[in-house]
Amino acid sequence: MIVKVGDPDSENRASSAEMIIDGREIIAIPGLVNLHSHAGPTAIRGLAEDLPLSMWLEKFVNPAHRALKKEDAAADYRLAYLEMLKSGITHVLDMYRFPEAGVTAAAELGIRSTIAPYTADVYDYFESPEDTYRNVRKFQSGLGRVWPGFEHISYCTESCLEMLSRLSLDYGIGLHTHEFETIDFVENDVKMYGKRPLQIFRQFNMLNDRLILAHCVWPTPEELRAMADAGVSVAHNPTSNMKLASGIAPVPEMLRLGINVGLGTDGVKENNRLDMFQEMKNASLIQRAITGKASLMTASEVFKMATVNGNAALRMKAGQIREGYLADLVLIDAMAPNMNPLYLDNVISSVVYSAHPGNIMAVIVNGKIVVDKGKHVSVDESEIIRRARETGTGLTKGIFEKN
Ligand SMILES: [Zn+2]
Repeated sequence: MIVKVGDPDSENRASSAEMIIDGREIIAIPGLVNLHSHAGPTAIRGLAEDLPLSMWLEKFVNPAHRALKKEDAAADYRLAYLEMLKSGITHVLDMYRFPEAGVTAAAELGIRSTIAPYTADVYDYFESPEDTYRNVRKFQSGLGRVWPGFEHISYCTESCLEMLSRLSLDYGIGLHTHEFETIDFVENDVKMYGKRPLQIFRQFNMLNDRLILAHCVWPTPEELRAMADAGVSVAHNPTSNMKLASGIAPVPEMLRLGINVGLGTDGVKENNRLDMFQEMKNASLIQRAITGKASLMTASEVFKMATVNGNAALRMKAGQIREGYLADLVLIDAMAPNMNPLYLDNVISSVVYSAHPGNIMAVIVNGKIVVDKGKHVSVDESEIIRRARETGTGLTKGIFEKN
């Protein structure tokens, strides 16, 4: 926890510090929150490219999920969390498989991870409702925790949705899924339940301030107002939406209506990079490019989305450098060429538009340094990469054999 904030030369200085970092020429920002990601299947990174979303899912993503084993997922989690920490991400909302492997990886690497499993009972190769029920009950404290989640409404029967909703209500925790990513997905929900998505969420008592929806590219204006009224949070994924040609989410309108919007990278299979600096910049630029309004989505607004708003959705007292807030911090090199000249009144613009993960000097999670001078302090990075490559090769073979 952050104990004191103040001038280091005054009596404000914390007297019990174990280590003192010379902060001259360093910009300290709150840790970045990746509000929607998938730690894997990493095997598809750089492999399934330039395809329409439906074909990409059918030919690559779903076969990879069918072939995925717990040890593959463990390798994916370790690689993704290493990449995220080195990119200044201190907390991720991670929709993936085998959540117990994710909890272990989060503890090993020192990242906060809220894992929302791909729960489904229409398909048999995702996490079953029983698995998710057990994992939510088991993992509620520590750096890694499990919240109810599902990939799409149409992957779940009524009893599965009822159980997930009840878990969120009973534990007072969030509930995470994709929605309004493409028009096709909305139509799938209508086909299965005869209703639009928000009506389905309402039917299952999910339309409330615990619901976090990834994407939201295609809601109607009425649906946006209903989301604002219910206090729903949105995880906006600009790079993924552009790469998969899903469309452009109406984020300025969401913010105008008071919807809590955070930012996410989405997974390595649709974004290739887990980098919130990229997301902040893209979130700002994409809206300007389509509206011709350079005043939209300012650096301060997108920075708030990546810090304050992400933490609000995840129910964490973090995202600001203030006493009593979690000590999750990223230290950025102010002497890097791309960060100069640096104007004190415009530091946030420099962080959003100029900075990249290579500028990070240290990452602190829960008061502990986990990345120092560009390297993780305790894990063998080359071993993590080697294991991920082996997993990728094995899974890729399986995918090609089936296609
Ligand atoms: Zn996603």
